[in-house]
Amino acid sequence: MAELDTAVEDKAVRLQVAAARQEESGRGVARLPRSAFQALGITEGDVVEIHGKRMTAAIAMAAYDEDQSLDVVRLDGLQRNNAECGSGEHVRVEAAESRPASRVVFAPASREMRLQGPTQALKRNFFRKPLVAGDLVATTGQQPVQNMPAEVQRMFNAPAYALTQIRLTVVSTAPKGIVHIDENTEVELRAEFEEAPTGRAVVNYDDVGGMDDTIQQLREMVELPLRYPELFTRLGVDPPKGVLLHGPPGTGKTRLAQAVANESDAQFFTINGPEIMGSGYGESEKRLREVFEEATKHAPAIVFIDEIDSIAPKRAQVAGEAEKRLVAQLLTLMDGLEARSNLVVIAATNRPDAVDEALRRPGRFDREIVIGVPDEKGRREILAIHTRGMPLGDRVDLDELARVTHGFVGADIAALAREAAIDAVRRIMPKLNLDERTIPAEVLDTLSVTREDFLSALKR
Ligand code: ADP
Repeated sequence: MAELDTAVEDKAVRLQVAAARQEESGRGVARLPRSAFQALGITEGDVVEIHGKRMTAAIAMAAYDEDQSLDVVRLDGLQRNNAECGSGEHVRVEAAESRPASRVVFAPASREMRLQGPTQALKRNFFRKPLVAGDLVATTGQQPVQNMPAEVQRMFNAPAYALTQIRLTVVSTAPKGIVHIDENTEVELRAEFEEAPTGRAVVNYDDVGGMDDTIQQLREMVELPLRYPELFTRLGVDPPKGVLLHGPPGTGKTRLAQAVANESDAQFFTINGPEIMGSGYGESEKRLREVFEEATKHAPAIVFIDEIDSIAPKRAQVAGEAEKRLVAQLLTLMDGLEARSNLVVIAATNRPDAVDEALRRPGRFDREIVIGVPDEKGRREILAIHTRGMPLGDRVDLDELARVTHGFVGADIAALAREAAIDAVRRIMPKLNLDERTIPAEVLDTLSVTREDFLSALKR
């Protein structure tokens, strides 16, 4: 049969992108329906190319049962970033070949990150996974711990390093194209930060837990209009200019806004309410105007105003002229935004009732989303996110932890995971030669965060 002889490069399928399940995030897997396996002539474990606006590679795995009849490929946030495609968009998937690399160079993908340590760990983490130069990838690594207890700091005589998930840019590979690391690959880890060409996707929907419905709502309100402005023009409706997120501190409002920006391919600008209030006479308004101007220039963009209640308190209740002027300025800026300027303002507050009513009128912040304290299922998801990069002990049971953390918000869960990791680091400290700043691979291998680490962190 002639078709069977078709060259590999002729075989391609078009599939709609959907998000990977939370627990599969970071594994580099693409879940494909059986029909795609047949069309591409591949089997599970084979490498495929994913072509969005950019090409990346993944390992093909069978779709979940419920997806079998759908023309869907499941990709995690990093893969969507690497292929430059959003959920709901279509990509071309092709059979591919991965070649052993003679050399792969990695660099930290964010400026704050300081990396050290043996490249054996990297080699092990990425062993046989398909890589393409320019990809943003995730691995476990040592990162300086913020707010580290003084005791640990003294012991290390340097910043303490805890194990967390870190993101790296694949700077270059030899040969080019899709490669994998094997025994003979030389792996280099650069110290300096290097931004992935696909940019800012340091936070995406996979990094926000317990918010499926909220993400869905925000996607419709914000991502859709930013991504497909023509859709709204065609329908003759104006997309929303402003969305108000309200909920207690630490529930992930900021993180969610960043994720929406990244997933919509929009630039992200932040205004911190209390900070801007502190500026001198006339300065605060000027700063506000500047951010809006910058954002308009760089559209599609999202302006995120954190703690908007401090900028825009009810005018009747404030004595200060400065506050009144700032509210007025914000109203002017919102009203001046062209409906189709491809800019959305997302504001966050934990006191919606304290916000000036004028801001909540149509054409301003006329959409509101409540972000609540997560329930058990939400906490389970958030726990999975914050322990993603950690070597966990066998007895760590995230379901159990989700049960016993009633009332915790995302920020509390992040802190819990961090504390537990510090405990694990403390335990290996006696085995370390503190004059050497790097941790030997054998010691690193014994490092794991145990159930007891979590339980004792919980008691603090
Ligand atoms: P908010 O803006 O609501 O005060 P943030 O987005 O600043 O909260 O959250 C602070 C930190 O807490 C985040 O950086 C993240 O580590 C963690 N966090 C909070 N909510 C979530 C969530 N829903 N999923 C994952 N992490 C979360």
